[in-house]
Amino acid sequence: DFEFSKLGLELGSGSGIGELMKDLGEALAAGGDIRMLGGGQPAHIPEVNAIWRRRMEEITEEPGALERMLANYDPPQGNPRFIEALSTLFRREFGWKVGSENFAVTPGGQTAFFFLFNLLGGEMPDGRRKKILLPLVPEYIGYANQGTCGDMFRAVPPKIEKTGEHEFKYRVDFDKLEVTEDIAAICVSRPTNPTGNVLTDGEIARLSDLAKAHGIPLIIDNAYGAPFPNVIFTEATPVWDEHIILTLSLSKIGLPGTRTGIVVAHPKVAGAVASMSSVVGLSNPNIGQVIARPLIESGEILKISNETVKPFYVEKSRMAREWVAESFGDSFEYYIHRSEGALFLWLWFPGLPISARELYERLKARGVLIVPGNYFFFGLEDESWRHRQECLRMTFTMDEDAVKGGIRIIGEEVRKAWAE
Ligand code: PLP
Repeated sequence: DFEFSKLGLELGSGSGIGELMKDLGEALAAGGDIRMLGGGQPAHIPEVNAIWRRRMEEITEEPGALERMLANYDPPQGNPRFIEALSTLFRREFGWKVGSENFAVTPGGQTAFFFLFNLLGGEMPDGRRKKILLPLVPEYIGYANQGTCGDMFRAVPPKIEKTGEHEFKYRVDFDKLEVTEDIAAICVSRPTNPTGNVLTDGEIARLSDLAKAHGIPLIIDNAYGAPFPNVIFTEATPVWDEHIILTLSLSKIGLPGTRTGIVVAHPKVAGAVASMSSVVGLSNPNIGQVIARPLIESGEILKISNETVKPFYVEKSRMAREWVAESFGDSFEYYIHRSEGALFLWLWFPGLPISARELYERLKARGVLIVPGNYFFFGLEDESWRHRQECLRMTFTMDEDAVKGGIRIIGEEVRKAWAE
C-alpha cells in the first residue's frame, strides 16, 4: 500500500464536490429518468455546433492545416497567431493596452486558476503564508480544493439585498472586507457561478482600487463574461489593468471539450503561467485555438456570442424563473438570486427546516440532481450562519422537460420539508 504525500492527499483523495460529481455520474449510469440540473455543462446550441462543424471542415480542406493542428506542439504560452488575434480584439473592442506578452493560454480556465492561486498564494520564500481573498461568497466551487498547501481562501459573507417579492442580490460588504498582510490576491467570478450575480461596475472599481493600493492583483474570472461568451444579461463594463488578472475560456461559448483557457495579465504573471504550463504539460491543447482563431480575427465570435449564445441563455433563464413562480406559488418563502448572467439559478429558502445536503438527498431520490448550496461557502469560518444551508444551485441549460420537471419536484420537496 503506497503512501501519498501531503500534496498527493490534498489533490488525489477527492473532495466534497468530487463526491457529488461521482454521485451524478453513478445516478446517470444507473439509468432511469434523471433530471440533471447539477453540472455546469453548457447547452448544445445547434447554430453554434454548426459553426464548429464548419470550422472542422475548413481545417480538413485547407492543405496542411489539419496536420499543423494535430501534429505540432505549440509554444507553452499558446499559439502565437491565436494570441495575436486575441490581443488585437481586446485593443480594438475595449481599448486595453495589451500585447502578446500579456497572454498565456492554459488547458481550460480551471487549470489557469490552479496555476494562479499557487503562483500567488501558499508558502512564500521567507516562510510567510498567503491566501486568496474572496470578497463575496458563495463563489465558484471549482476553486475550493486547488490550494496545494492547505487552506488557500479567506472569504467574506455578502450583504443580502431583497430586490423583489421573490428576488434578492448579493453585494460585496465593503465594511467587512479587509486586506491584511497575508492576502496574496483578491478573486471574483463575474458573472458568478453559482449565483448568476454580476458585480456592479462600482463594486469592481472599488475592488480594483483596493487591490492596487495594497500592491496585489485582482483576479477576475470572466468564464461567462465579455467579449465571449458574453452570457451577461445586464450592463457591465469589462475591465483590465496592469494589476488585474483576467481569465477567459472557450468552454461556455460551446467548446468545453477543447480545454482552452486564456489568462490576460502583467507580462510577469503571464510569463510565469506559461512556464507552469511547460512544466506541467509541455504545451496546451491546440484544437480550440485553431477552431476559434479565424472567428476572433473576423469578429464572428462577437456575433455568435451576442446574437446566438446570449439570447439563448437569456430565454432559458426567463423560462426557468417563470416555472419557479408557477411551481412554488406562495406556499413557502423563497427568493431567486437576480439572474444577471451564467447558466444557473440560485435559490434561497429562508428558514428551510432541513439542511441543503438533506434537500439534495431527497431530490436525488426523486431523480433530480442539483448542487447543495453549502459547498459554495468555502473559506468562511462562521459555520453557524444558517444561510449556508438554505440555498441550492440549479442549472437551467437543459431541455424544458428536465428543467420544468425538476423545478416542480424541488417545489414539492421544499413544501414537504415545511409540512413535516
Ligand atoms: N470559472 C468559472 C466561474 C466556471 O464556472 C468554470 C466552469 O464551470 C470555470 C472557471 C472553468 O471552466 P473551464 O476549465 O472549462 O474553462
